[in-house]
Amino acid sequence: MRTYQKIKLTVLFVSCVCFLPVLNAQADVPAAEEWVDIPVVVNIIDASDASNVDDAIKKANEILKQANIRLVVKKTNNNVNVGNGDPNLTEAEGDTAQEDGQKELDKVCGAGKGIKITVADDCWTEDPNTVGWSVHRNPVIVIEPDADANEMGETITHELLHSLTVTAHSNDVNDVMYPTEAGNGIINPNDVNEIFPNAKKRGKPYLSCRGYCLAGPWQFQPVLIIASIYTALSWTAFLMYYVKIAALTPVTLTSDMPT
Ligand SMILES: [Zn+2]
Repeated sequence: MRTYQKIKLTVLFVSCVCFLPVLNAQADVPAAEEWVDIPVVVNIIDASDASNVDDAIKKANEILKQANIRLVVKKTNNNVNVGNGDPNLTEAEGDTAQEDGQKELDKVCGAGKGIKITVADDCWTEDPNTVGWSVHRNPVIVIEPDADANEMGETITHELLHSLTVTAHSNDVNDVMYPTEAGNGIINPNDVNEIFPNAKKRGKPYLSCRGYCLAGPWQFQPVLIIASIYTALSWTAFLMYYVKIAALTPVTLTSDMPT
């Protein structure tokens, strides 16, 4: 075998071996999942305590991973005045906040899009035990601040699920739809199935998978596609060379024999 053939063969062989992991990696690529980003506008009513709002939304997003939903804050309005100008909402003031909130969502997030989280020190003065409320299908949820950001995040999630049409409460203390704050953030699979189509209407759906592919509205894996084509060509060339050299070997040996 001549030297340049040996070099070509070696290069091709190394190339094939190097790209074997790429093939394995491609086999491990998880199927793309559909996710939804829901744009959020936060309204802080007058001097209400907003110190835990960001952490509470982070907690809500941790819980909402179970449903492939993510809240994305687009705008925060501080010192929003509703009614008499104090940080507490009467029922009538809450209704006003909901009406105004929907109009603003249409402007900021687009018609029919987005969720508003309204924070008031007392979210319903007529019922002091209530820490959050929402209305079926209404995109404005109203919650009270909580010294525990995790509990506040669970309240946001609970009210969001109501807003996305879940009506029933759960008897399971671990379920986020348990009627009090004792829940441990589990979203029942039936509720996931119910809220996801409604979340898509309020937000922006996209395909995503973790690890190798890019998140976005278009599932595209350019590196893997190019590497796969290269690997396939390398193996084809390697096999062709192997067959050709094997076929030529007896001839080469004959010609190399001393006369
Ligand atoms: Zn509830």
